[in-house]
Amino acid sequence: MAKIIDGKAVSAQVKENIAKEVAQLKEKHGISIGLAVVIVGNNPASRIYVNNKKKACEAVGFESFEYALPEETTQDELLALIDKLNADDKVDGILVQLPLPKHLDEKIVIDNISPDKDVDAFHPVNVGKIMIGDYSFLPCTPAGVMELIASTGVEISGKECVVVGRSNIVGKPMSMLLLHKSGTVTICHSRTKDLAAECKRADILVAAVGVPKLIKGDMIKEGAVVIDVGMNRLEDGKLCGDVDFESCEKVASYITPVPGGVGPMTIAMLMKNTLTAAKKKIAL
Ligand code: NDP
Repeated sequence: MAKIIDGKAVSAQVKENIAKEVAQLKEKHGISIGLAVVIVGNNPASRIYVNNKKKACEAVGFESFEYALPEETTQDELLALIDKLNADDKVDGILVQLPLPKHLDEKIVIDNISPDKDVDAFHPVNVGKIMIGDYSFLPCTPAGVMELIASTGVEISGKECVVVGRSNIVGKPMSMLLLHKSGTVTICHSRTKDLAAECKRADILVAAVGVPKLIKGDMIKEGAVVIDVGMNRLEDGKLCGDVDFESCEKVASYITPVPGGVGPMTIAMLMKNTLTAAKKKIAL
């Protein structure tokens, strides 16, 4: 039976360490650290994420500035706000909650966030830095996964790592982080011919697909570390991962639950990036 990787406990530890550092920075440098969160429209899931991010800011001692804009906000209005936040010394990090309403161009919006305040690490400059391994901002969800793998004590170097999903926000940066740790990385996607065979080779398997319970116990290797990034809302309102937990926990050595696995880590890593941004400012 697999050991459960407790994302809540690991993220609480990360946030506690951040809170200590924030308190020290306040004492030594008299600075306060601020995260601006921009939300456009009334997407209920986005609202929950924004509230959770605000709570996390409070817990670690950051100021959070919320900009809740109406659904009909124009691209120019949103870009003007981002310009203002880019220039605001009180704001160390800027997060624009995605998805944006259809009439707004996410790519243009992200491109306009200063790379120094891009705590989601979505700006092309930061994406490029992740590729060459010279990153100040870690992509939040993949970085959270790396912390969870580290918490197991399992070495990545030399291991077969399979990432299912190739999105820009999870699958691709995830693969890069595993590669930087010298894993032998395979990336699977919807056109992969034999997903089960690819997954079966994995010592470390990361599922970031968006298909409930896609990965079954008979698709994984005995003793694999299984990390489930998926967050799928079922018809009954329950949250479900991309991994069939019941069958996989019988085969894996370590496994993350959903909820309580990767989810809490993403926010902890956002806090870490905001702290990094503030520290860079002091160093200047
Ligand atoms: P995307 O929809 O952007 O990407 C999904 C990827 O999965 C694509 O690369 C797609 O392939 C691939 N895929 C889809 N179906 C299959 C299949 N049957 N077999 C193999 N590959 C398949 O999703 P995201 O990366 O944004 O998110 C993935 C999941 O992670 C979602 O459930 C999301 O909610 C969750 N998530 C969780 C976070 C957290 O904090 N815990 C943060 C971000 C996301 P192709 O490219 O060929 O279409």
